[in-house]
Amino acid sequence: MTSAKETHKTVECPTCKKQAIWGPENPWRPFCSERCKLIDLGEWFEERHRIPDRSPPEDQE
Ligand SMILES: [Zn+2]
Repeated sequence: MTSAKETHKTVECPTCKKQAIWGPENPWRPFCSERCKLIDLGEWFEERHRIPDRSPPEDQE
């Protein structure tokens, strides 16, 4: 009888460097959590869509 018990494969979370489970129970892989995934996505999003600092002109004549 074969055991269905599998050892969890883990990967290093790119955001926080913790061990993240690589498996169906972790929909956010290779991240350890949704938060880490969002942080990472937010970083590349900012990188690609860098919003120029357009502060309104102070001295209007
Ligand atoms: Zn993480």
